[in-house]
Amino acid sequence: MVFAHDTEQSLVAAVTLVNTAGPPDTLETVADLDAYYERFEFTGRHERTRAELEEVRALRLPLRRLLTADRDTAAELVNAMLAEARALPRLVRHDRFDWHLHAVSADAPLVSRITVEVAMAMVDVIRADEHSRLGVCADEDCDGLVLDLSRNRSRRFCSTACGNRNAVAAYRARQAADA
Ligand SMILES: [Zn+2]
Ligand SMILES: [Zn+2]
Repeated sequence: MVFAHDTEQSLVAAVTLVNTAGPPDTLETVADLDAYYERFEFTGRHERTRAELEEVRALRLPLRRLLTADRDTAAELVNAMLAEARALPRLVRHDRFDWHLHAVSADAPLVSRITVEVAMAMVDVIRADEHSRLGVCADEDCDGLVLDLSRNRSRRFCSTACGNRNAVAAYRARQAADA
C-alpha cells in the first residue's frame, strides 16, 4: 500500500469520478450517481436529486485540474478547497470503517464532502511527494486519468479497454515489422 487505506480509496473514487466525463459520459442520471455513491461506500447526506447530480457533474473539471496540476499548484488548490469548505479534520469511526479522517460533517452536501475528501487525499500525495502516481492515459486518443498504486509503477492506461487496445496495436506493429 502506497498511502493509507482511506487516502487510496478517495483517490480511486476521484479518478473514477473525473473519468465518468468520458466520452461517453457515464454520470448522466441520478441512478448513475447512486451507483457511484454505493460503489465507493460513501456515507452521509445523499439527496438523489437532479441538483445534487449537477453539482457532482460540475465538480469533475476542477477535480481533473487538481489531479493533473503540478505539485506546487496542487498544494494551492488543496488549500483553497479546504478553506472554502471550512474543513476541520477529525478522526471518526463509523459503520464498518475503522478510524479515518473526515473534515466536513456528514450532513454537508455530497459535492462538498467529495471535494474535501479528495483534497485531504491530495494532502497525503503532496506531502509524500508521490505526484507521479497520477497521470493521463498513455493511449493517444484518451484523456482518462490514471492512478498508479502498483509497487513497480507499471500502470499506464486508464482502463483495461485502453490497455488491451494498445497491446493489440503494439502486437500488430511487431508483426508488421517482422513481415
Ligand atoms: Zn467515513
Ligand atoms: Zn484511457
